[in-house]
Amino acid sequence: MAILDYTLPTDGLAGCFIDGAWHWPASGETLPVENPSRRSVICEVGRGTSVEVDLAVAAAERARRDWAARPAAERGAMLTELSNRLIANAEDVARILAAESGNAIRTQSRGEAMGAAGVLKYYGGVAGEQKGETLPFGPGLMSYSTREPLGVVGSIIPWNSPLQLGAVKISMALATGNCLVLKPAEDAPLAVLKLVEMAADIFPPGVFNVVTGLGEEAGAALATHPGVAKVSFTGSSEVGKLVAHAAADRIANVTLELGGKSPCIIFPDACTPEHIEATAQGVVNAMRFARQGQSCTAGSRLFVHASVWDELMPKVVAKAAAMQVGDALDEESDIGAVVNEERYSEICAYVAEAEAQGATFLVGETPKATDQGFHPVPTILSGLDNSWRIAREEVFGPVLVAIPWEDEDAMIAQANDTHYGLAAFIFARDVSTVSRVTRALDAGWVQVNQGGGQIPGMSYGGIKQSGMGSEYSIEGALEAYTFRKCVTMAL
Ligand code: NAD
Repeated sequence: MAILDYTLPTDGLAGCFIDGAWHWPASGETLPVENPSRRSVICEVGRGTSVEVDLAVAAAERARRDWAARPAAERGAMLTELSNRLIANAEDVARILAAESGNAIRTQSRGEAMGAAGVLKYYGGVAGEQKGETLPFGPGLMSYSTREPLGVVGSIIPWNSPLQLGAVKISMALATGNCLVLKPAEDAPLAVLKLVEMAADIFPPGVFNVVTGLGEEAGAALATHPGVAKVSFTGSSEVGKLVAHAAADRIANVTLELGGKSPCIIFPDACTPEHIEATAQGVVNAMRFARQGQSCTAGSRLFVHASVWDELMPKVVAKAAAMQVGDALDEESDIGAVVNEERYSEICAYVAEAEAQGATFLVGETPKATDQGFHPVPTILSGLDNSWRIAREEVFGPVLVAIPWEDEDAMIAQANDTHYGLAAFIFARDVSTVSRVTRALDAGWVQVNQGGGQIPGMSYGGIKQSGMGSEYSIEGALEAYTFRKCVTMAL
């Protein structure tokens, strides 16, 4: 087994970057960051609280007017510079990501490091698109609008794609002229802190601040802070509701990118001899097995037309079963580890309940209690109903439920019978089928004949309890991070 090493953030272990300098939290307390593949503590990181959040918001408030006054192209150039530095250090950052998140280095973490650099580069390039409008009120009256930054943005991110999501929050806030206080996830802050080290001498003091800490301490302090004009939250729907309540109390702007239970729908014409292998692989990709299923967009409810079940399912099962589960830093591993014991236990509980209800295992098993790394194997269940908990709730593990269908309307009703509305996947070759079903699904992002990841430039976001607002595009940034100021002049 080839185990790769990496360089931890050095100054960044303080956990808090405020007003252009690293700060150890006033409490002197730290949080352990663990490698979930090996169940070993990687290092200790400063545990920021409301004290550091107050300092960071104050620093951002001091910096925001100068930052907003800079030409957009200048702000964009700084994001581009950060992208270049990340690319130059991508391998080191990818190793850190794999170690702290459990996401396999070869299949996931290298791609995430380059994906994060791509997001920074995209927003660096389009920063100048922060344009306004002129209004045709006739001679003698000139009216125009500008897109103004909201002020201090507080962003909170989860552990499952920490670098990519950190890059999204940094880019969207800073490109549009806001100043940022970012709260990384306590389970996986290290790659973000490494990125902050690279950014430390790029942005003016106070423009970009970070406070690492627990959700209920630093996260809640940021979400409720009266000086934060906008909260951008990515995480669970449960915490998203708390964040939305806190924002409502002071009428703060909010973006929520939350959970999902996304349908993956198979039509017979995607399973002809020409297409069936690609469809089976697409199902495995959409389910994000290679990310332990720990992806908000995972296509975790598979609806297969009954006429092709017997051809398709053995191929999907064979591909899932062939994936090698192991240490996230091992080049041989297709799949790494679930991030912590709590998540692993939750996955165990969901699968055990479905097993007790009589579900059939096409592949996989109920994960066992372990004192080794948290490595559940890809699991596909059938013989269950769309009303079961495992088919309704976000398991956030490598668990796919497969349900046969015959009547299209009934299947669409089942696919939409969920409180989530983030993503959906359709495998079909007939264009009228694709057009009809795409329109019928309640989802913010529908992929057809593929199960890929987000691409900078697309507007990505969910509906229902999957959230509000969109990210990854300049339109999303303008809608979510700026307000329109109208100026009317009598000439
Ligand atoms: P989580 O909601 O538990 O935590 C997310 C972040 O919120 C962490 O930084 C955490 O410290 C913080 N937090 C926790 N309690 C808080 C509180 N009371 N106030 C303020 N902040 C608080 O989510 P998680 O388990 O870290 O991540 C997994 C979830 O994120 C899944 O539901 C997944 O679907 C979702 N997710 C969504 C997207 C998307 O783009 N829609 C992307 C990635 C992950």
